[in-house]
Amino acid sequence: MRVLLVEDDARMADTADRFLRNVGFAVDVAPDGASALRLAALNPYDAVVLDLGLPDLDGLEVCRRLRRQAQPLRIVMATARDAVESRIAGLDTGADDYIVKPYALGELVARLRAVLRRPAEALPAVLRVADLELDTAARRARRGNREIPLTAKEFAVLEALMRHPGTVMTREHISQHAWDDNYDPFSNIIDVYIGRLRRKIDQPGEATLVETMRGAGYRIAGGRT
Ligand code: CA
Repeated sequence: MRVLLVEDDARMADTADRFLRNVGFAVDVAPDGASALRLAALNPYDAVVLDLGLPDLDGLEVCRRLRRQAQPLRIVMATARDAVESRIAGLDTGADDYIVKPYALGELVARLRAVLRRPAEALPAVLRVADLELDTAARRARRGNREIPLTAKEFAVLEALMRHPGTVMTREHISQHAWDDNYDPFSNIIDVYIGRLRRKIDQPGEATLVETMRGAGYRIAGGRT
């Protein structure tokens, strides 16, 4: 899941950025409304954490403009404790939820996961391909009865593949969903992660689920022996 964090307080942004990465989100940070809108026009974010008090545009205005952009995304508005009215206004302008500042980062993650799971977006919490199961809420993967321990990044790559079963995912597509703007398109990092995933998922004697489509990318499919 890829998140745009809009926050002008550099220290707060940095702390939240690191926390969200650690739990497996790909994160880009925007310090003001204009860069938030620019980044949101360029990248397929799943969710935006939007500070209400920004140096240039009002957070509510940013929210309104984000809603006018075509891609569906979830917006969690961050507002000061005393700004009850602005919270309500935030929900009126199309925010999916709000969180009161200062917030615990664990709560922010819970809010993000909750809005990303909402049925309107048709994102099932548990993804299944053949006997492989990825529980995006509990952050667990298993194949048959075998529990598969995954790092946060491995989880993000597998989730990107499993949200489009049977579809060839290019490296670029995988990177857009699991990496941030620092992704280097000339690196082989995705191949490295796919290699690790394959060793964990497809063990000897099991049908191959993680397939390499030479020259095109990767896909997760129903399993071939
Ligand atoms: Ca602020």
